[in-house]
Amino acid sequence: MAGRKLGLIALFDVDGTLTAPRKVITPRMLEFFQELWKAVTVGVVGGSDLVKITEQLGKSAVNDYDYVFAENGLVAYKNGDLIGQQSLKAFLGDKKLKEFINYTLHYIGDLDIPIKRGTFIEFRSGMLNVSPIGRNCSQEERDEFEKYDKVHNIRSKMVSVLREKFAHFNLTFSIGGQISFDVFPEGWDKTYCLRYLEDFSEIHFFGDKTYKGGNDYEIYESHRTVGHTVTSPEDTAEQCTAIFMRKQAGDA
Ligand SMILES: [Mg+2]
Repeated sequence: MAGRKLGLIALFDVDGTLTAPRKVITPRMLEFFQELWKAVTVGVVGGSDLVKITEQLGKSAVNDYDYVFAENGLVAYKNGDLIGQQSLKAFLGDKKLKEFINYTLHYIGDLDIPIKRGTFIEFRSGMLNVSPIGRNCSQEERDEFEKYDKVHNIRSKMVSVLREKFAHFNLTFSIGGQISFDVFPEGWDKTYCLRYLEDFSEIHFFGDKTYKGGNDYEIYESHRTVGHTVTSPEDTAEQCTAIFMRKQAGDA
């Protein structure tokens, strides 16, 4: 493609970077991306699964961008073709998974907290989501648990026990949201997708949660990327225009 600089890719987080959180991309941003695509190779990397990402970016998302990485790159597409797939089940194997799940359910079983509901462990393709109260509690019960947890540190105590007990599994534990924490293998954050971008010497990453503990932190900090923090989709477009489009005009 004439005009696209070889070895350079612009890589984008989805929520808060290309779209408002959990929302659909605006026509204005889509138009902007068509212009950007003329100047640089474009990829997206989201934490959600491909179903959610295509809901947000459009049915043809895997064809609209050069690279689409769902679940941080555990599911990877290049030019519309699936080029890689990894799962927790394949990676850990059923024996280790069962050991972890059994221990975790026992731990929750012995936990004395005001209320419990159902779905204490949700099995996702790239992670386990563990909730001491159970994921199918009501919003009101969620809010109550969050307050209770702030005082009693239910989740952080549980995480430190699991971290020690399963140190040899090399897992990362991430407390997020109100009622649960995520468990996934070390390195399965957004940097996972970089293994598919070996051909690029200049990788510009744009994300909104680039602070420590945010889900863009590791890839933003990676020595393989040039990190850019954005505050909204509009800010993303503005920064890209300044970095890629003006430079392009100047080069011509
Ligand atoms: Mg984000």
